[in-house]
Amino acid sequence: MIYNPRLIAIVLYMIFYLNISYAQPKDLNYYLPQIEYDSSIPTPEEFLGYQIGEWHISHDQLVAYCKELARLSDRIALKEIGRTHENRPLLNLIYTTPENHKNLEALRKQHLKLCDAEISKSLDLNKTPLVLYQGYSIHGNEASGSNAAMLNAYYLAAGESKAIKSLLEKSIVIIDPCYNPDGLNRFATWVNMHKNANVIGDENDREFSEEWPGGRTNHYWFDLNRDWLLLVHPESRARIKNFHHWKPNVLTDHHEMGKNSTFFFQPGVPSRTNPNTPQKNQDLTEDIAQYHMKYLDAIGSEYFMKKRYDDFYYGKGSTYPDANGAIGILFEQASTRGHKQETDNGMREFSFAIRNQVATSLSTQEACLNMMTVLKEYQRDFYLNVKKEAADNPTKGYIFYDDDKTKMSSFINKLGQHQILYQKTTADFAKEQITYPSGSYYIPLDQKDYKLVKTIFEKVSTFRDSIFYDVSAWTLPLAYDLSYSEITSSDKLKISTKKNQFLRTNLIDKTYQKLYAERSDTLVYSDDNNMVVKPKIAILVGDGISAYYTGAMWHTVDKRYGLPITKIDIHQFKNSKRLNKYNTLIMASGRYNELDSTSVAEMKDWIQNGGKLICEGTALRWAAKKGLVDLSFKKRMVKDPKTGKMKAMSTASSRNAQVIGGAIFATEMNLDHPLTEGYTDTFYPSFKKGTHFLEEPTKADIKVILRYTENPSLSGYVSNKNLDMIKGSPALVMQKQGKGKVICFVDNPVFRGYWYGGFRLFMNAIFL
Ligand SMILES: [Zn+2]
Repeated sequence: MIYNPRLIAIVLYMIFYLNISYAQPKDLNYYLPQIEYDSSIPTPEEFLGYQIGEWHISHDQLVAYCKELARLSDRIALKEIGRTHENRPLLNLIYTTPENHKNLEALRKQHLKLCDAEISKSLDLNKTPLVLYQGYSIHGNEASGSNAAMLNAYYLAAGESKAIKSLLEKSIVIIDPCYNPDGLNRFATWVNMHKNANVIGDENDREFSEEWPGGRTNHYWFDLNRDWLLLVHPESRARIKNFHHWKPNVLTDHHEMGKNSTFFFQPGVPSRTNPNTPQKNQDLTEDIAQYHMKYLDAIGSEYFMKKRYDDFYYGKGSTYPDANGAIGILFEQASTRGHKQETDNGMREFSFAIRNQVATSLSTQEACLNMMTVLKEYQRDFYLNVKKEAADNPTKGYIFYDDDKTKMSSFINKLGQHQILYQKTTADFAKEQITYPSGSYYIPLDQKDYKLVKTIFEKVSTFRDSIFYDVSAWTLPLAYDLSYSEITSSDKLKISTKKNQFLRTNLIDKTYQKLYAERSDTLVYSDDNNMVVKPKIAILVGDGISAYYTGAMWHTVDKRYGLPITKIDIHQFKNSKRLNKYNTLIMASGRYNELDSTSVAEMKDWIQNGGKLICEGTALRWAAKKGLVDLSFKKRMVKDPKTGKMKAMSTASSRNAQVIGGAIFATEMNLDHPLTEGYTDTFYPSFKKGTHFLEEPTKADIKVILRYTENPSLSGYVSNKNLDMIKGSPALVMQKQGKGKVICFVDNPVFRGYWYGGFRLFMNAIFL
């Protein structure tokens, strides 16, 4: 071996140099209180070889550390509750004392009695454990949560304080260290691969400009924090099954927001709380907030509450628990996105963001310890109260039926996952010109899941506020386009006496996949010519295109129907002759600025020669502007504050009352058109997000297939101005061009992958 002192000197210098130029790694006591810790439990730093906050942990590292903690600590039971699309494990670290672990199942059952109105009154609350569920980073690029979860996991495993021991004695604390492993891992790879040795925090660095689609979403580019009610994804299905297994008293949901903010915790804006959520829930949330304030004050961090964020849509992690006797709490930490970033509040390091998440994890634990009795009473009373509410409600339940067995079982499967009970009718029943045959399903409101049943079935048209952070309607039977009616006490309905639990099945996707796999091999289309059409599908993805909307379409075609689909990146599409490999091209909402005149000309040729272009939402605007389809959009005239003259405003750009955040509208379907094959009635509920309204087409070769009715509002918030624009306008049109065609969906037919009623319409468009 050659011994070279000069080389060694250089290496030593570099090691020294690199060390001092990194952002200084923090001590463990920067994050955690200085109490005694069990030295046989490795700190995250001892396990990883670096301190939390220095690098973004990958999901594999997180899993490995959780396993090590569970191996060494008798306070922990580690449970894999499911797997993600990318086959990553979804973990629960279940903490309680070693003595309690010996009776864990008995303790869980004892806890569940709080939710049973028949027996909960006689329950000894002192012998009933509280369940706290702490969850992190459902948006993968809001990574301070999952990194903080590692420290929380260590703290509860190794901490020797009286408070920890008392908490574990009286309760079961479940840490769900990462709600979205696929997104977290994608993001960690991005920021770690761009980290400078000299961490600079300049917002222009590529570290802070994630490549499309970014780490926020799951594998199919869905926002998992909208899926708690819809249950389209394995992450959500596992989580909700687990939720009902434990029925926690408190569930937390740690997020990040814009970098220039501080720290938010619920309660949110009072007028934007879902009216189905009890006021007591909000009061207790505010009592718990006193602990967050205390902990954040102690470390000098700023915060706010009752502003900006709502508590409205039950498909979110902090709101779903509110319909289930629990307290859901949203936390939002100003993001550093990468390892360090300049913000309006000065230079902020990733470690700072993590520290606030740790502080509010610990404050929640202290709140649970000190408010134990009142939280248990709240849960018990919630279920006693829903019994009363059900008795007082003039609506007694809902009846539904559909001839489409696959659709029915998919719907039933969804209700079953939420543990909703049903009864069956024993005689034919007619209401609102619909005949429900004997054996139809009846969902009584008088059940534990009263609030969930209500929110899933009710149509909502009155609102306390006109501004929505997200959708304002999610009426599931409308999403499934099912016949359903509200049942009141005056309805003479004959039903079975027993309330049954739906069995969870997994047959659905397979049934449909088989159906379409057969169809794709044999389909004969005979509109003009008898030809066998096997779809060769491509979808444009990438910069400027909605990842959510393309993701929903990718998921529908690939996962639900099991058909091949090619995702062409918009950067790769330019000047290519690739289109000829496909007969169907899908363009979801997006700007499509990347496509130049050559690409547009190629697309036109391709359509003339038999290609089929399917456009949705804002992609329609692009297609119309480029002359790919002869459509125009309605313009809203507004007064220009500067000139005083009227001018056209194309869309509502900000969060205001003119936004359609998501609502449901009635359309009338043209059943004679081949695009509507398989639909049996003209009524079709369409989910609308955004303010795009088509003018009546002037060209004779354009067929209107869906049209909003004259009184279209079914459920959700819409301003009167928007409603006037929607009325009677086209919602789905098709134009033939040469041998090809352009199909235009004003609304996304497969919104969030759950708009079941539109699946067939979308697939018909592909197969047409
Ligand atoms: Zn978030």
